Amino acid sequence: MRVAVVGGGIAGLTCAYDLQEAGADVVVFEGADRVGGKLLVGEVGGITVDLGAESMLARRPEALDLVAELDLGDRLVHPEPSPATLWTRGALRPMPPTVMGVPADLEALTASGVLSAPVDPRSVPVPEEDVSVGAFVAERVGRDVVDRLVEPLLGGVYAGHADRLSLRAAAPMIAALGPDPVAAAVQRRASGRALPGPLLAGLSGGVGTLPLALAERLEVRLNSTVRAMSRDGGGWTLVVGPTTQARRERFDAVVLAVPAPAASRLLAETAPRAAFTLAGIDYASMALVTFVLEGADLPSGSGFLVPPIDVAAIKAATFATNKWAWLAESAGDAAVVRTSLGRAGDTTALQRPDDELVATALADLRRAVEPVGEVGQVVARRVQRWGGGLPQYDVGHLDAVDAIEADVDPISGLALCGAAYHGVGIPAVIATAHAAAERILGQETMES
Ligand SMILES: Cc1cc2nc3c(=O)[nH]c(=O)nc-3n(C[C@H](O)[C@H](O)[C@H](O)COP(=O)(O)OP(=O)(O)OC[C@H]3O[C@@H](n4cnc5c(N)ncnc54)[C@H](O)[C@@H]3O)c2cc1C
Repeated sequence: MRVAVVGGGIAGLTCAYDLQEAGADVVVFEGADRVGGKLLVGEVGGITVDLGAESMLARRPEALDLVAELDLGDRLVHPEPSPATLWTRGALRPMPPTVMGVPADLEALTASGVLSAPVDPRSVPVPEEDVSVGAFVAERVGRDVVDRLVEPLLGGVYAGHADRLSLRAAAPMIAALGPDPVAAAVQRRASGRALPGPLLAGLSGGVGTLPLALAERLEVRLNSTVRAMSRDGGGWTLVVGPTTQARRERFDAVVLAVPAPAASRLLAETAPRAAFTLAGIDYASMALVTFVLEGADLPSGSGFLVPPIDVAAIKAATFATNKWAWLAESAGDAAVVRTSLGRAGDTTALQRPDDELVATALADLRRAVEPVGEVGQVVARRVQRWGGGLPQYDVGHLDAVDAIEADVDPISGLALCGAAYHGVGIPAVIATAHAAAERILGQETMES
């Protein structure tokens, strides 16, 4: 069986690898001049760093299993566990224990000084229908908790807004706390049901090397944007490459591992309802400004998050050399800090030249750090923009995904995977890739 995988991000490459391991003849078409999508390593001041995603949730198996499968286990690393920090109400403050922003220790919350007044939790039945994370938490725990604890965490994962993101799709762990989320979070913490093992994992040399290791084992065609696809007997014809030199190629099956707007365009003919729903999935753009600093004296810990209510340009700063021992080793005396800017709907913030982004990010970094430490001298910096970086799981996202899947399901030799559907984190994306490969292989078995 000949399979085309469209998109050479972590989803497409993983799916292609699974299919190839099962004996399929697979070609990955990647529109850009490199593989990896949102996973990318690059150099800043001669130091190799991740310029995109930099860590993987270690509490799910998919990413760790893939690392092992590719014999990269000796490069698997875990950041030093360190309490999260918020830059809020004019100071860096310890983030009290929470379940995705829902307080789990009221004494620690008071001591942190993150909120100006104590919380007044309430029990309100969990609605049947989907609601926004913000509405759910505000009604039960108060607006201040949404603004100062939930927003920065959602900003970190989705670059989104609590009042738009779906409770069920973006924060199921909050929904699972039930009608009185604070009582449930406090009880969970008090009963010591903390999960064992490290929360996060990375790769020495950067998480961005993971797609490179996959691509080495696959046939990947770079600079090969797939422009159209159509049914061709029992298979598919793809139109690939620049419009002036487009080539046609036939395959038995196609996996679309591209962001929702591209999937929507490609499905317009064969699955118009799916295409329509995909077109409605919004994306947040963001930028990462990475600094190499000399003479820095950073606070301990892996960095800080910034609630949007505190009006800063940056929404987070990662003290990458505090977080990753491999990076500290390669940076020597220098410190590496990466700041992130941009949230869903916030188009103007990023429509500024690189130098302005650098200046505002650095000014915020100094405002946050210099009351307690030193930022030092910038010896190198790099701006990496991520237009359409993260899909927004708005209220109703799970219904939208159901509708997309219902439209695609009856079409044989077609599967979708990637960050638009069942989670944006690397392990969740890998899970969709495995499922897409299984779907294609399952159909082949049924047909033969
Ligand atoms: C800045 C940033 C930081 C992040 N940090 C983390 C993190 O630390 N941990 C974590 O778990 N997750 C993180 N994420 C999320 C995670 O990286 C992504 O959700 C995931 O990598 C998406 O993978 P994907 O394969 O679905 O899509 P993508 O990585 O978007 O790959 C899709 C690929 O398809 C290609 N393509 C598009 N259209 C076509 C076409 N028509 N023809 C051919 N090719 C096409 C694109 O060029 C791209 O290479 C981060 C995301 C961003 C933007």
